[in-house]
Amino acid sequence: MTAHDRPHATANVSLARRAWNIRRTALRMGAVQGQGYIGQALGIADVLAAAYFHALEYRPEDPEWEGRDRFLLSIGHYAIALYAALMEAGILPEEELDTYGMDDSRMPMSGMASYTPGMEITGGSLGHGLGVAVGMALGLKRKKNPAFVYNLMSDGELGEGSTWEAAMGAAHHRLDNLVCLIDFNNQQADGPSTEMLCAEPLKEKWEAFGWRCQRVDGNDLPAVAAALDAARAATEPKPRAIIFDTRMCKGVPFLEDREIMHFVRVEADEWAKALAVLEEGRPE
Ligand SMILES: [Mg+2]
Repeated sequence: MTAHDRPHATANVSLARRAWNIRRTALRMGAVQGQGYIGQALGIADVLAAAYFHALEYRPEDPEWEGRDRFLLSIGHYAIALYAALMEAGILPEEELDTYGMDDSRMPMSGMASYTPGMEITGGSLGHGLGVAVGMALGLKRKKNPAFVYNLMSDGELGEGSTWEAAMGAAHHRLDNLVCLIDFNNQQADGPSTEMLCAEPLKEKWEAFGWRCQRVDGNDLPAVAAALDAARAATEPKPRAIIFDTRMCKGVPFLEDREIMHFVRVEADEWAKALAVLEEGRPE
């Protein structure tokens, strides 16, 4: 069975609509709390749609199925985006949307593995996801499990030494079942990533570390899906990286223009406005 044979993946819903649904669900969750890392969620929605509805193997009714591809959210603060994708995938029930960020919720504001089905690791201590992914990929190989491990990380994590230690380890162990997805929105907590600690030339850097690397527009869905396909189909005994250049707040132009992007301030009356603007761009 391939990803394309699964009922939920072939429900005649376009990837564009999946991405739009993820954006809408994330905005609805943001509205519940009046806050959230919504800029990141809107920016990464296309990558999540292509991952969950084109690339990944999983069983929505059995999130811990041993044969599943593991999707690690190194960036725990992007949890709002992953919850939206997990709801779209049928792993989390949409009825729980209104509990986002509440004390008894299964959806805390930062990703925690013990709370949420489909959340593979507790992220948010940045720079650690890739190291965990290396261990998981190595473990799967030793168990002869053909599943892939995907690690979604941010460009800010490129400034962490642990990321590059893990990158060396992955190449050393020839982890061709590991795909590192980098959300390059050129923004981290203190400002533009390229001004904080520039990691360019980034594609060449990953290649020099022994990885197969692609760089694509992370808001161009066909390009994202093709890159995920190529990463999976490659035959070299190397780990694979994909750098996705994304635009924060994508899909809601008045938010895209905000000056402070890391934690976008959305006023109380703007959540409904953002949902209305998104609605205008609703795909088939
Ligand atoms: Mg960033």
